[in-house]
Amino acid sequence: MTPIQHLFDGLNHLYIKREDLLPFSFGGNKARKAKLFFEEIDRGDYDCVVTYGSSSSNHCRAVANMACARKMKCVLIQPMEQSSPTFNSMMSEKLFQAESVIVPVNEVHDTIERRLSELKADGYRPYFIPGGGHGNIGTQAYVDCYEEILAYEAENKIHFDDIFFASGTGTTQAGLVCGSLIHGDHRNIVGISIARKNPYGRNVVIDSVCEYLKEHQISVGDVAVERAVCFDDAYTSDGYGSHSKEIENTLISVIRDHGIQMDMTYTAKAYYGMTEYLKREGVLGHRVLFIHTGGTPLYFDYLRGLDT
Ligand SMILES: *Cc1c(COP(=O)(O)O)cnc(C)c1O
Repeated sequence: MTPIQHLFDGLNHLYIKREDLLPFSFGGNKARKAKLFFEEIDRGDYDCVVTYGSSSSNHCRAVANMACARKMKCVLIQPMEQSSPTFNSMMSEKLFQAESVIVPVNEVHDTIERRLSELKADGYRPYFIPGGGHGNIGTQAYVDCYEEILAYEAENKIHFDDIFFASGTGTTQAGLVCGSLIHGDHRNIVGISIARKNPYGRNVVIDSVCEYLKEHQISVGDVAVERAVCFDDAYTSDGYGSHSKEIENTLISVIRDHGIQMDMTYTAKAYYGMTEYLKREGVLGHRVLFIHTGGTPLYFDYLRGLDT
């Protein structure tokens, strides 16, 4: 159960759920998802884990750390185009001793297949985790998070009208939306896209929601799913990892005013997107919950960048 803090009262009442404080490997949504993947790994007969992501991937770092804690071999497939060293990749490779295989982005898929068969030929029993912790297990992690939000509301006798967060592969969003559909809630759940554009970005979320509901034999109807998925692509700047002066100013003011670190790829971008959305839609007097999805090592990459 991660803490929910009241941030401030302005035109709306703002709260923040600190997923960055999950107690493993700098936390974040990737740690919440990886924990569930490793519960499945622990139940099965595996001795090696394979996943993929860029050098700045929070997912790869959380997975490499969990594998290392179990003394399991970990292989990270990385696209060459995004492979410059970061605090995440340094931890994965130097501290957690994951093997990293760097290939051009269009060879990532084949390399995963090849490395998995090589490992099997060498007598390993590998488990493959999709990039970002995508899939029903990752979705489950954020159904669980949604239920933590419900528990907080019940205990504190309040109701959040809106929930905002950074949406990337859309698994976090899919889990929150599934949670709200399962509980018959009608609040506004808004994923601020950090890269993808619509209709693709939103369709991926919808597919993930449908896949999860299908596996759990829950039927809520297509119209309800369509209505529940708001994927806002207005604040992506120039795509993944790109940012603007406004996003940097957001990062700076949130740590100055509230002592909470953010990063420019995910959380500050989404927080900025949320403030713009609230202005754009003229939202007033709502209780608004922002989910801090983690990425703390990227905050230090930002700081290091200031020095060069
Ligand atoms: C991966 C990530 C996201 C996006 O989560 P998805 O489930 O892929 O949409 C948001 N914030 C941080 C810090 C992340 O690492």
